[in-house]
Amino acid sequence: MSNIPVSDAVIFDTLRRVFGFRDFRPNQERVVRALLEKRDVLAVMPTGGGKSLCYQLPAVLLPGTCMVISPLIALMKDQVDGARANGIRAAFLNSSLMLEEWNEVIRDLLANDLDLLYVAPERFCLDHFRELLGRVQISMAVIDEAHCISEWGHDFRPDYLSLSGLVTMFPDLPVAAFTATATNRVQQDILEKLALRTPFLVRASFDRPNLYYDIQFKDNPDAQLVALIKKNKGKSGIIYRTSRKSVNDTSAMLQAKGFRALPYHAGLSDAERKRHQEAFICDEAEVIVATIAFGMGIDKSNIRFVIHADLPKSIENYYQETGRAGRDGEPAQCTLLFAQGDIPKVRFFIDSMTDDVERAKALGALSKVIAFASTSVCRRRALLEYFGESYPHENCSSCDICLGSREVVDCTREAQMLLSAIVRTEERFGAMHIVDIVAGSANKKIRDCGHDRLKTFGVGKAFEKKYWRQLVDELLAQKVIAKSEGLYPTLFLQPKALLLLRGEERLETVRVFEKKPLKALRDKSEPSGLAYNQELFELLRLLRKQIADEQGVPPYVVFSDRTLREMAAILPLTAEDMLAVSGVGEVKLERYGHQFLRILDRFQSEHR
Ligand code: ADP
Ligand code: ZN
Repeated sequence: MSNIPVSDAVIFDTLRRVFGFRDFRPNQERVVRALLEKRDVLAVMPTGGGKSLCYQLPAVLLPGTCMVISPLIALMKDQVDGARANGIRAAFLNSSLMLEEWNEVIRDLLANDLDLLYVAPERFCLDHFRELLGRVQISMAVIDEAHCISEWGHDFRPDYLSLSGLVTMFPDLPVAAFTATATNRVQQDILEKLALRTPFLVRASFDRPNLYYDIQFKDNPDAQLVALIKKNKGKSGIIYRTSRKSVNDTSAMLQAKGFRALPYHAGLSDAERKRHQEAFICDEAEVIVATIAFGMGIDKSNIRFVIHADLPKSIENYYQETGRAGRDGEPAQCTLLFAQGDIPKVRFFIDSMTDDVERAKALGALSKVIAFASTSVCRRRALLEYFGESYPHENCSSCDICLGSREVVDCTREAQMLLSAIVRTEERFGAMHIVDIVAGSANKKIRDCGHDRLKTFGVGKAFEKKYWRQLVDELLAQKVIAKSEGLYPTLFLQPKALLLLRGEERLETVRVFEKKPLKALRDKSEPSGLAYNQELFELLRLLRKQIADEQGVPPYVVFSDRTLREMAAILPLTAEDMLAVSGVGEVKLERYGHQFLRILDRFQSEHR
């Protein structure tokens, strides 16, 4: 096959005309060039980093079809819709196709009429599929979600192992692997399993500058969720919860309050799950309440908030799940609701795991999550350091710690009350009983033990029992006290307790309040500082929804939020102005341009 060098002019021209972008995102250009030079590639880039463009642009330029292996039917469809919207000749082959559609794709493939063909990994085990590939011109092979080949990845798929034969199958073609999984172990594993030939390695920063991270003290989750959704009114968001029951309860609670929220978990039927996911993707439901199973198969780029209402399983999970927000580069909020009181529940669940190795792994992961949530280090720095990356800035100005919205409370006096109650009852009672003493509830057990006559009885009447319960958890977490094993665990003191009781040490706890939300964020992310009319933006959004429904694609496939915002800010009046908007390429201009221009025009004449 010929190997004509592709000039800069051609590359940038394609970027502008086909994709409608003025510049590459970090690393995109290097990957594009490596592929045009027919080198193998492993690109580790965060979600929203723009991986698709890295292979779609060379696919447009190189002769033959670029074959993309992708794990999920929904993802394939989304990618194909997105590519076609830019006028790229793209198709997929998977079990969702009818015979007629299938034959049409094969016909196009044999006629060399496809730039991109998406397929599922299991095809590679099939002889007739390999035979088919022998008869067509392939430009390169791309493995999307390449972490699926690694058993260390969060999403291992045995089918992916068959891809280790790709390099022998295509001795002269580049093989490119893409993943957003940040751990070095997974990266190493991908390289080994695929046996890439001196690949061009790209490891982008895992920083997601447009994401704002905060951790709020979880004291009234329902009210907190409602407040967060109200703040993001009308925008798309995911709420993660751990159990099916809590998913159902939360979505019912939100529905009762008039929000368009839908549940998503493994207990629903396939049809229901599909319907709920679709409603979310098409902006018909604003909030999806889900167990961690949700999100893998969707490319929705305009998710504006992700809330963890329960503790995530690991830092990796937390990063992946929050990473689903703001793929379009626009500001998005990631909030974790955290209370020490949640820890015992998770521990209990982990303790019931039968596999010793798995249990130890889960416990290790949990303790890292707790440390992440309890320390006062910049959230961004802590996350990046977890993945072995050092964050160069002192202040990220986009997390609760850096914005100073975190408050330290001195609870020494209150801790002393609890400790003294534990001492006076000879370390023989559990948390509830100790709390009853301090809070002064004279129930039967308290009276039977004569504990209502203790000096500490009722000293903490001023606070609710709930407060005292949380403080017990805090004392446990800070290892001031410990808890015995067994059915009726009792509390006993640790060395640190004596220092506290003598007043030689103080107890500080962290409470998180939202004081300065999302302010500094605006100036940080890409050109979102844009001033635009909200009403106009809504009109453009409505039109986008209408077009998307007509064409049976998700709204973000038509134009991203970012593109609409730019339109509303720049106010293009001509086709040429329109092409200057990021995300508007020639094909989209031709297809949708006049409809959007009409709205922009009308809006401007009405508001002159
Ligand atoms: P990933 O697969 O890495 O998560 P995508 O390929 O879905 O990311 O791209 C995320 C978003 O960024 C998409 O909306 C895409 O159109 C946009 N995008 C990609 N490259 C660029 C670019 N060079 N300039 C502006 N936006 C881009
Ligand atoms: Zn920070």
